Amino acid sequence: MKETSNHGEIVTLYKNEIKTESFRKDEKDGLCIFEYVYFSRPDSNIDGMNVHKFRELAGKYLAEQAPVEADFVAGVPDSGLDAALGYSKYSKIPYDLAFVKNKYIGRTFIQSTQTKRRNQVALKLNPIPSTVKDKRIILVDDSIVRGTTITRIIKVLRRAGAKEIHLRVASPAFLGICYFGTDVTDKNGLIATKKSVEEIRQEIGADSLEYLSLENLRKIAEGSNMKGFCEGCFTSKYPIEVPDEIHKDKFEKIF
Ligand code: SF4
Repeated sequence: MKETSNHGEIVTLYKNEIKTESFRKDEKDGLCIFEYVYFSRPDSNIDGMNVHKFRELAGKYLAEQAPVEADFVAGVPDSGLDAALGYSKYSKIPYDLAFVKNKYIGRTFIQSTQTKRRNQVALKLNPIPSTVKDKRIILVDDSIVRGTTITRIIKVLRRAGAKEIHLRVASPAFLGICYFGTDVTDKNGLIATKKSVEEIRQEIGADSLEYLSLENLRKIAEGSNMKGFCEGCFTSKYPIEVPDEIHKDKFEKIF
């Protein structure tokens, strides 16, 4: 029996017979690319591509795109850790932990929205002063949506004595809302729709800031077997039709 199935395939086992049927209408895929960037666990394999590997490659490309001198590379737990490792391996700058996660503050996943979960993650991070004090740090996070969480994290690191904080983001700037189930439904709340990279850097308090380019994100995604992705968060272009402008506006207001 084959070990993998195709999208839209129904496999029926009946007595000694195995029947497969496909109800797909076309060969186009539209997987949410954020599954690789943030949602999925690093040990997941999605369509031939391991999530940890994907994020590690994002870190490698970031190191290539935006090299900077620093004492160590650290990731924002948990989804920034793999890309931080990739940055460190490629740049040969040591990898270290800037934070420990406080396990005794609430359980993050119980929070109802992604935003609340992220904010609570920031509350749960305790810096390690002996590692951070007087150090130039390359801090890697998976994405910046509203900018509030990373601002808080950078402040925490500064208070712990960090000398420089160079933020590297393992995905492109977040420019579009999501119509497919995530809680990113208000374009006005997206920091990158209103500010330039330099303005964002100033607002969040980093010494430098660089996002993974869309071109490099696509290069990494080519390693999977998918025949297409939704990258609406970064391009405002979606794999299927979304409500027209009038309805889009209503959608944004309702949510
Ligand atoms: S817009 Fe597309 S890429 Fe962004 S979260 Fe929604 S489904 Fe994923």
